[in-house]
Amino acid sequence: MPTPEAGRAPGHRVPGLPVIDPASGETFDETPDQQPHELDDAIDRARRAWIGWRADPAARTIRLNAAADAVDAAGDDLAPLLTREQGKPLAESYAEVARTAARLRYFAALTPHTRTIDDGRPVHSEIRWRSLGPVAAIVPWNFPLQLASAKFAPALAAGNTVVLKPSPYTPLATRLLGAVLATALPEDVLTVVTGREPLGAHLAAHPGIRHVTFTGSVPTGQAVAAAAAASLARVTLELGGNDAAVLLDDVDVDRVADRLFWAAFRNCGQVCMAVKRVYAPARLHAEVVEALAHRAKTVVVGSGLDPETLLGPVNNAPQLARVERLTQRALAVGARAAAGGHRLDGPGYFFAPTILTDVPPDDPVVTKEQFGPVLPVLPYRDLDEAVEAANDTGFGLGGSVWGTDLDRAAATAERLECGTAWINHHAELSLAQPFAGVKDSGVGVAGGPWGLYGNLSPFVVHRPREEGR
Ligand code: NAD
Repeated sequence: MPTPEAGRAPGHRVPGLPVIDPASGETFDETPDQQPHELDDAIDRARRAWIGWRADPAARTIRLNAAADAVDAAGDDLAPLLTREQGKPLAESYAEVARTAARLRYFAALTPHTRTIDDGRPVHSEIRWRSLGPVAAIVPWNFPLQLASAKFAPALAAGNTVVLKPSPYTPLATRLLGAVLATALPEDVLTVVTGREPLGAHLAAHPGIRHVTFTGSVPTGQAVAAAAAASLARVTLELGGNDAAVLLDDVDVDRVADRLFWAAFRNCGQVCMAVKRVYAPARLHAEVVEALAHRAKTVVVGSGLDPETLLGPVNNAPQLARVERLTQRALAVGARAAAGGHRLDGPGYFFAPTILTDVPPDDPVVTKEQFGPVLPVLPYRDLDEAVEAANDTGFGLGGSVWGTDLDRAAATAERLECGTAWINHHAELSLAQPFAGVKDSGVGVAGGPWGLYGNLSPFVVHRPREEGR
């Protein structure tokens, strides 16, 4: 494995960056706080490794499949470490590891289409695809491995090399993943760098990088796009969301309540495309609140390492403070907590799963991305009003419609301004689908073949039909 220590000046020891277990609030390990010269070195090595990696697609397929096998085999090491630093229940960490391996296999099997245009001119135009060079992958703390793989799997399959920077809150499982991948990939094809800001800013601005693929918040995404503009590197941004779930008046509340609850609370609500607002017909509003509040009050909250736990802590102290601030502000202007509404006593970053009702529609807990275990449920009288409210946001990541008449639900879903819409569920993604947000939720497309092409440039050769003189 290319160690993060490589390139460090002899005798110079930068203190490590502490990593906190969100279930206890205590530091349990540290990660190297890497410096700009180490980044330069990693990008330089990635550039040199690219020459061999891009040359042989068949060898890449074999290596990427071997990398997937190595990830699967390392599940018992990766999953507990991920839970320790991120907080999510262990079963979800295992699922994240499995998804990482599955994504490697999916992209290993994809090849870009070479095609010839014959449009009557005296030349054929042959369209081929070329890799870009070193790709910078910058990811957040909510799904460290899964989101990293959404970047490195298509980038590597396309023939690029990758410098991957995890969030300073969740660097450890990613570093271990880097070591696991290094057992199957050629040296320097993928390097993990860790450290506090401005490491990410340096990476985004680095002239040796040809594509910056970023997942995170809108303001950071804007900073990344501005930084990458200096070298005119390609930018792919997967940013925040404020997904609405619109319940129709024929919805069977009992039938969908579990799915709706988990669409909002999975990973403690720290999901870009979680349900972050529910719009329920006024007639059903109380029943919906009751069904969700019952689940919020009874779900087992605790350390992700405890097998009984279904909901872990919030990942970090600033995020917990944000969730608390948004909740308290809503309560102060008349909202009511049908469940939760406060931090949980004891150590760790725990917040009681919260269902809010009587929330003013323009309150920040509705209009902003709470990214935590808090869900406002708003009543509506007329479906047009609900669709308008669902679309009245700067975000456009996902949305869902819930009802018994599937055609009517599908017709309503068509009206949502977002990249992915679901009917009677939310946030299920296929590896083969394009994933993209509209409005502030992103730029560029990840997932499926579109994710592969996002890491390639067309190379067109025009050749005469016949040998000319
Ligand atoms: P963040 O924007 O604070 O950080 C994301 C990453 O960027 C981290 O690795 C961070 O260290 C790095 N970073 C910080 N400043 C930087 C800079 N100036 N230049 C380059 N990199 C920099 O986001 P977060 O708090 O870690 O994650 C939560 C956000 O991520 C939420 O808004 C969530 O919706 C979003 N998200 C989006 C998706 C998606 O696919 N659309 C998926 C998951 C999370």
